[in-house]
Amino acid sequence: MDRPLQVHLASGNAHKVAELQALARESGLALELHSARATGGMPHVIEDAGTFVGNARKKARALQRQLPSGAWALADDSGLCVDALDGGPGVESAYYAGPQGDGAANLAKLLATMREVPDDRRGAQFVCVLFLIGPDGSEHACEGRTSGRLLREPRGSGGFGYDPIFVPAGYSETYAEIGDAVKNRLSHRARAWAELARWLRGRRAE
Ligand code: IMP
Repeated sequence: MDRPLQVHLASGNAHKVAELQALARESGLALELHSARATGGMPHVIEDAGTFVGNARKKARALQRQLPSGAWALADDSGLCVDALDGGPGVESAYYAGPQGDGAANLAKLLATMREVPDDRRGAQFVCVLFLIGPDGSEHACEGRTSGRLLREPRGSGGFGYDPIFVPAGYSETYAEIGDAVKNRLSHRARAWAELARWLRGRRAE
């Protein structure tokens, strides 16, 4: 039997790593996802490409440069695109309230910015781009999106980032209330992962 594909995750975000490792396990792919911590930590990357795919590419390339040759690198760039803010904070989601990347401050700023926005204009989409680089330098990107609406007060203690104010379409609980198993079925990250898994299965069947 082939050794599982060894893939290194270009992320210093422990929540993303945990979600992606759960998604990898559940997909049944012959693949093992390793945290960047195991290979010296995620190098600092200035996320200035202006797009999810551009930032994800920068992160995957930066990690791959510090890995032994022949290694696979996978990056996740994601964010919350709010209709009433013309898609913002979008690619700036991690740094919405400042360069320190403080999740609680980002959430507080978004709640304050949205205070006067009426209920029928509180739509938003979470977006995730997964970007994979193979040992030969070949690159593949997949995107997943989940639509929903934003609450006026945080609810729930699970997840991270903007989870406590995001209610996915068709649900009444927030991402922070629905539990990891449900989030991992419907999230933007789960949808991007499903695309990536389809692509990897097709590639292995060739
Ligand atoms: P980046 O991909 O590291 O640039 O940052 C992604 C940012 O988007 C995070 O810091 C969060 O603010 C937000 N984000 C992305 N995915 C999620 C999620 O699943 N839940 C809540 N916030 C998220």
